[in-house]
Amino acid sequence: KTEGRNRWRAFDATMAQALLYRRRLESDLRDALAADGEGLSLVYQPQFCLNDSRIIGYEALARWKHPSFGAIPPAEFIPIAEEAGMIAELGEWILNRACDAARAWADDLTIAVNLSPAQIFEGDLTAFVKATLDRTGLDPARLELEVTEGVLIDNPERALHVLHGLKDLGVRISMDDFGTGYSSLSYLQTFPFDAIKIDRSFTQGLDETRSKTGLHAEAIVRAVIGLGHAIGIPVIAEGVETQTQFDRLKALKCDAVQGYLIGKPMPHLIDPLPEFDTKIVRIA
Ligand code: C2E
Ligand code: MG
Ligand code: MG
Ligand code: MG
Repeated sequence: KTEGRNRWRAFDATMAQALLYRRRLESDLRDALAADGEGLSLVYQPQFCLNDSRIIGYEALARWKHPSFGAIPPAEFIPIAEEAGMIAELGEWILNRACDAARAWADDLTIAVNLSPAQIFEGDLTAFVKATLDRTGLDPARLELEVTEGVLIDNPERALHVLHGLKDLGVRISMDDFGTGYSSLSYLQTFPFDAIKIDRSFTQGLDETRSKTGLHAEAIVRAVIGLGHAIGIPVIAEGVETQTQFDRLKALKCDAVQGYLIGKPMPHLIDPLPEFDTKIVRIA
């Protein structure tokens, strides 16, 4: 019984520590935003088109270098921003940065920016996106907003209203992490997405020598590509790390790939724009 109590206490202490750490991150993130995003940055990961063998654009991914704790992954600080009511502000900082960066790239390169579901419900996202496009002069067709399935769960009517408003601006909306949520297929029926991104877990399953969890991965990937093409939208595979995965995706007529094999997310590519090293990947 004593042991049980002690274990409880240790658990309490860990919980309290975790809570303190989280409050600290929340307050420091607030400070970072107040200081024009000090410590925050974006990195850009190339997206490679398999049909015409070239880089078509980059996905912007947020990074935060905390003054004391170092790099905090987005999977940790994005939810903190969401829960602390700071996601609109953080999202605005990210979109401003991303559009400014893309404006300096070649005209035919797109920029993909992730939207958190909470951004849809906080503030006037459509007005902000429009203002950012106007300010930067970025062609709306070059901006792609990535949303996950979670975006349509809480308040589908409101989410659909906002997504349609964004599409009316001329930006593209893609479905991120496809296949990992609860009702991916019903979402495809609800909103005219412009692209589907196959989640990394399926891509990794294509490489049987590396993954023991890839049961039926190839059948699933093939079906998702077929589904995208049947509704007339391109399919992009995330998390491509090996030549085997690349070759399978090309054989399955996937439209584009993104992953460490092509390029890791990089901080600066404005001048000069780094050329994808075609030696890394056998394109034929
Ligand atoms: P995501 O949008 O699905 O982004 C892809 C994630 O996969 C990124 O992780 C990227 O660095 C990682 N990745 C790319 N290629 C490979 C690969 O070949 N292998 C492996 N193992 N990983 C790869 P990251 O940057 O840690 O971001 C994680 C998630 O955090 C993102 O998933 C996205 O949901 C969210 N996130 C990142 N930046 C932002 C942002 O600016 N705004 C919002 N709302 N969410 C963001
Ligand atoms: Mg994404
Ligand atoms: Mg994804
Ligand atoms: Mg993800």
